[in-house]
Parts: sequence; C-alpha cells; structure tokens
Amino acid sequence: MRVAVLGAGAVGVTAALELASQDVDVTVYEQGTIESGSSGRAAGVCYDAYAGRIDARIGDRALARFQEFSGMNGFDFTLCPYVWLARENDEKRAAAIREQVPRMRANGRDVSLIDSETLRERYPALNVDSVAVAAIARNAGHTDPASYVRAVADHAVETGATILTNTPATLRAQSETIPNANTEIETPDGHESFDAVLVATGAHTKHVLAAADIPIPLKPYRVQALTTEPIAIDVPMLFDATGGYYLRPHGDGLLVGDGTEPIERDPDGWKREADEWFLEAIETHLETAVGRTFARDRAWAGLCTATPDGDPLLGEIAPNVFVAAGWQGHGFMRAPALGEMIAEQIVDGDGIEAFDPKRFDGDETFEIREGMDIG
Ligand SMILES: Cc1cc2nc3c(=O)[nH]c(=O)nc-3n(C[C@H](O)[C@H](O)[C@H](O)COP(=O)(O)OP(=O)(O)OC[C@H]3O[C@@H](n4cnc5c(N)ncnc54)[C@H](O)[C@@H]3O)c2cc1C
Repeated sequence: MRVAVLGAGAVGVTAALELASQDVDVTVYEQGTIESGSSGRAAGVCYDAYAGRIDARIGDRALARFQEFSGMNGFDFTLCPYVWLARENDEKRAAAIREQVPRMRANGRDVSLIDSETLRERYPALNVDSVAVAAIARNAGHTDPASYVRAVADHAVETGATILTNTPATLRAQSETIPNANTEIETPDGHESFDAVLVATGAHTKHVLAAADIPIPLKPYRVQALTTEPIAIDVPMLFDATGGYYLRPHGDGLLVGDGTEPIERDPDGWKREADEWFLEAIETHLETAVGRTFARDRAWAGLCTATPDGDPLLGEIAPNVFVAAGWQGHGFMRAPALGEMIAEQIVDGDGIEAFDPKRFDGDETFEIREGMDIG
C-alpha cells in the first residue's frame, strides 16, 4: 500500500510513523520545514482532563505515548500537574468545573477538585485568594512541541518513511478523464499516484481539499503566547477559566498564552507577531495569577482551527482521501493518539463515528468557539 501524507506537523509525522511501522510505503509532503506549521508555535500544554469518554481515551493514549517517546531523538516530556480554576463571581465556570470533574473521574482520569488551602500549600507562589473552584489533573505535562515533531519525523524516516520538505503538494479534482485524481499528488516536481492520501495540513486543510472539490467546514483563527525571562517560581500548569489565559513552567521562566481572536483568518495572510492588547492583558493576568509581572522574552501568534461542533474532522472524506484537522486548540496534546488513529483507519478502515468528517456538508456557517473555554 502506498500512502501520501500532506503536512509534517505533529499529526502528520505521527501518522507517517504509524504507517511506516505497519510496512506501508509512506511519503510525507511538507510545504515548509517540519516545524513551520502550528506545531512549531504551540505552547506544549498536555493533559487528559476531558469529560467525554472518547476524548478521555484519546488524552490518555496521547500522554502514554508522549512518555513512551520521551528521551528519543532529543524529545523530552516533563510531567507536571494541570490546575484549572474559576474565580469568584464566575458561577457559570465554577459550576462547569464542579460538573466536569466527576465525569472525568468516571472516565478513569486522575483528577479531583482541590481546595484553595491545599493549592496554596503546594504552590505558595499562586494567588488563590479569589478562587471559587479549582481542579487538578495529575496525568499531565509539558514539552517543546517542535522537538516532538523533529523526533517523530526522524523516527518515521528511520522506520522507512520518506519526508520531502519544501515540497508543497496539491490534490486534484476528480473528472471523467482522471477518475482517481483525488489520490494523485501534484508537486513542483510532477505527479505521483497513491492508494490513499492523508491531508493533515493544519490551517491550510480547507484550501487543500477545496482544490479537489471536497468542501469541509474549518476556520483558522489566531491565538497568542509569550515566554518570560528566567525567574525562579514554582507553579503547575494553570488555566484560569475566568481570566481566559493559561501558563506553564518554561525553562526557568513561564510560558503564558491564549489571546484568542475568534475571527476566521486566511492561512497565508495573518499577523505572526503578538498584539499589544495581548501583551498588556498578560501583565494583568500575571498580577492576578502570581501577584507580579515579568520581563518578556518572546511573544508570537499562531493559528488554531475550529469546526462547527468543536470536534475534529478525522476520517475518510472522499474515497481514499482522509482528513485530520480541526483540533480547537487541542491538537498538539492529542497528536500522538490522533495520528495513530488515522493511520489505523487508513489501513483497517475503522474510524470514530463522532469525528467522521462526512457528518457535515462542508458549507455550514458557524461561530468560532474558544477551545479552552469551559463556560
Ligand atoms: C500559540 C499556540 C499555542 C498552542 N498551544 C497548544 C497547546 O498547549 N496544546 C495543544 O494541544 N495545542 C496547542 N496549540 C494548537 C496546536 O498547535 C495545533 O492544534 C497542532 O499543532 C496542529 O498540528 P497539525 O499537525 O494538525 O498541524 P500543523 O502543525 O499546522 O502542521 C500542518 C503542516 O502542513 C503543512 N502544509 C500546509 N499546506 C501544505 C501543502 N499544500 N503541502 C504540504 N504541506 C502543507 C504546513 O506547513 C504545516 O507544517 C497551540 C497553537 C498555537 C498557535
């Protein structure tokens, strides 16, 4: 079996590794370098704190694989608890956390509510004064996402995959004269035919499929993050649902993010630098979270992708054409499982019904919902 994977982000390289492990002849086409997509701009916050049964299973599998891969080809995964909280006067999100935690536990997740005093004792640097409800997930950790993509790409090549960087690829539309055109890949070097094609081109996925007359409802939107200068501070990974920001340890400093703009962006024309409003907002958030601000090291923006129902588009969208996109800001932490699942589906044919991309017509209108919001 010959399979083409378009896109060497976290999902594409994981799928390529799985396919190569199953003796599939796999070629990955990447228009830039293997870390030039969203995976190279992600924050690397990873957890399995999902209330839905399928999501919890995927989160669990992804974390197991991160730990399995840790130490391989320069990739390291650091275990670190994930705390999420709602502050006073935000009853909507406080209620959401109280409601989520038992469902996560019912799905076997190691999560629990944690009272402010316990949180303060464990993490004295955190400001818990106005916390109404907090929860902690112990099966969680962080990493440098680009190092994951590089390490898994190297491993995929060691296992037999071919990865062609700086090679943009397009799908062709079916026609009476070329009935199998969808699985024919066009690059600046010519055409190549495959038994199946996986489109894992992140924010470009809607455009790549549209060239083959395959419509999908997917909207790229901007999110932002920054890192601080080194500062000795002991914090968990934290999501303040009321403030709408997250932070995690990053070297000797912090990585802080969100800055979501729920506006559809052109994947080839968007501002890569962080906005001034985001930088100012983070100063206020850090005052709330740890009672002080920090000198900034680096700030940037990147793209996430939204779907009408917030669930991924993962599966066969046209005969022998598979899609893997639409992660709503949670693509990196689930990539080790999502890439594995789509590879299995390409080989064996079984997918997840709830993520079937054919559940949509492709022309749906919808609002972009912030991925992390629990309100
Ligand atoms: C600032 C920021 C912080 C984030 N933080 C987190 C986080 O903490 N945890 C988390 O889970 N997620 C996070 N995300 C989301 C995460 O980055 C994405 O969900 C994930 O990286 C998507 O991986 P992917 O492989 O699907 O896509 P990508 O990594 O975008 O890879 C797609 C690849 O396809 C290539 N491509 C596009 N078109 C073509 C073409 N025609 N031919 C060939 N190649 C093509 C692109 O160059 C790219 O390399 C964050 C995102 C941003 C921007």
